Amino acid sequence: MLKTMRDYIKSLFLLELFKGMKLTGYYLFTKEFTVQYPEERAPMSPRFRGLHAQRRYENGEERCIACKLCEAVCPAQAITIEAEPREDGSRRTTRYDIDLFKCIFCGYCQESCPVDAIVETRVYEYTRDPSNRVIDKEELLKIGDKYEAQISADIAAQAKHR
Ligand code: SF4
Ligand code: SF4
Repeated sequence: MLKTMRDYIKSLFLLELFKGMKLTGYYLFTKEFTVQYPEERAPMSPRFRGLHAQRRYENGEERCIACKLCEAVCPAQAITIEAEPREDGSRRTTRYDIDLFKCIFCGYCQESCPVDAIVETRVYEYTRDPSNRVIDKEELLKIGDKYEAQISADIAAQAKHR
């Protein structure tokens, strides 16, 4: 009974409406925090784990030494590596595939790599369809070449906080 009376008085004086208008008024004059994507971007951590890349040394040689640690550590079993020794005796991958539909972007591959070869970049705007779910070595190296400046800056920033 008391509650009904209270609700009646509230509705009679439009109290709920005024409460709503007060909140609207407050946000009308406060600083906007909506990001107008894609023209504006939110800040991104150097630890962001986006699309993978394979890196090279400055002389153009690929970093990966086919140790397969990343393959072993991957909890999603998303990485497939095949390797052979080269004529000069060095060991390199002949196949390095990541199934992006299996990958859970945990970053373990990057953490396990002794030569900082496999990394996860800041790239998140990409699409894959089921017929194109695997990203191969050639594509990974291309991404690495394209974003090397950002990748090495991010690795340096992460090292500072270790
Ligand atoms: S990010 Fe995680 S799940 Fe994806 S390939 Fe690397 S280790 Fe595997
Ligand atoms: S990417 Fe790194 S961890 Fe994976 S096989 Fe190559 S060197 Fe080893």
